[in-house]
Amino acid sequence: MFIGHLPAGYLITCGLFKPLPLPKNAARRCILAGLTGAIAPDFDLIWCYLVDHGQHHHHLYPTHWPLIWFSALSLLLLWAGLVKNKYPVLLCVVFCVNGIVHLLLDSLVGDIGWLMPFDNTLFALAHVPAQYHPWWLNFFLHWSFMLEMALVVAAIWLWRRRRKASLIEAPVE
Ligand SMILES: [Zn+2]
Repeated sequence: MFIGHLPAGYLITCGLFKPLPLPKNAARRCILAGLTGAIAPDFDLIWCYLVDHGQHHHHLYPTHWPLIWFSALSLLLLWAGLVKNKYPVLLCVVFCVNGIVHLLLDSLVGDIGWLMPFDNTLFALAHVPAQYHPWWLNFFLHWSFMLEMALVVAAIWLWRRRRKASLIEAPVE
């Protein structure tokens, strides 16, 4: 997935905190945590290109292992049960849920090792045939890119709707 992670993160984060009675600043921090989580697994690209010199597919790194993200989420939920102030945990949960959604979206056409590190088999819902040059054209002309565009459109629509609502709520001076 190329451009769908951030809009998906925005949609999911807004959906996650919508039922919660959060003040405006807290909602903003939630969105920031969500958007960061939505792209966090791909921070490994820095390692991939600067250190590993592209020798391995970055989806093989622990940053793309579901076990890591689900373990972190389990620990966070345990932490949530133990502390009084749930807000910091909420931010971390939002970050983590978006990291997991990133892996789900990557699984559409991007090969994710759902059983890593116990089994190195990579799973993808569909494969993008190599028909065009340059390589990225194959992804842009694949049906999965329509889904990415749909996520972008939906996120812009929601952002505009929220913005309009906040302008109406803002006190008139
Ligand atoms: Zn990724």
